[in-house]
Amino acid sequence: MSHSAASRVQEFIGDPVSEAPIVAREKLEEIFADIQDDLRYDHELNGCLNCGICTATCPAAHYYDFSPREIVQLLWTENLEGIHDAMQEKIWACAQCYTCAARCPFGNSPGGLIMLMRETAIKHGMESAKNVLRPFSRVMLKLISTGNQLSPDMINPDHFADWGPNICKVDAPLKILRKAIPMPTLNTTATAWEVNLKTSVELYTIWEMTGVLDQLETIDENLFDVITDIMDEKREDWDDFLEDAEDDEDDEDDD
Ligand code: SF4
Ligand code: SF4
Repeated sequence: MSHSAASRVQEFIGDPVSEAPIVAREKLEEIFADIQDDLRYDHELNGCLNCGICTATCPAAHYYDFSPREIVQLLWTENLEGIHDAMQEKIWACAQCYTCAARCPFGNSPGGLIMLMRETAIKHGMESAKNVLRPFSRVMLKLISTGNQLSPDMINPDHFADWGPNICKVDAPLKILRKAIPMPTLNTTATAWEVNLKTSVELYTIWEMTGVLDQLETIDENLFDVITDIMDEKREDWDDFLEDAEDDEDDEDDD
């Protein structure tokens, strides 16, 4: 009998007789170091009584197999395997409402710590991050190409087929509803408001300098390529605008 092919058990939980960890110890340490090295870490974790107040007040804990107490305990006790395991699913259940941070007697911010874990999951290109963020690629494209997030015409079943059957519930006459909103700047379905070229180009610099685009490349290379093309085009438009403005100034000086 051949031992080369993985059995069903080996495929899902690893080889029970192997001493090799499923994820190398060095990798687990690297992931934890990335979470811990963030400037916010020491502000958001000051100790943990394991009291469970955070979980008792957490809305996500009511609906999912998720507990902020458990996540904080994993970090506080430096349980590297547990931290890695939680990053495969549990951390994505948090609604980032920060009720936990308001209630923790130790002044911890479980929601903030979860955000650090999410950012690290993205940095390491974890499948959980890719799966969670995939449906948001259109939002990202819209944000980068227009400076806006969603416009009402995007909220329809065709655009969000991968959000499952519940998307049909938002199939409302959004164009009409939008016009009923009293703020004139919102009466459009193409974009929520106009972002000028200079601001767009400045935003691209911020996204580059802060590593947002590197993260995007890790998570979705195709989307990254599309977005980079859009950014290049807009930067060229901005350079042309500046050149034209300079020429106009020179002409005025000559006159
Ligand atoms: S994070 Fe705070 S509220 Fe939650 S279990 Fe620890 S000490 Fe209690
Ligand atoms: S921020 Fe997350 S962990 Fe904290 S209460 Fe809200 S959903 Fe729960």
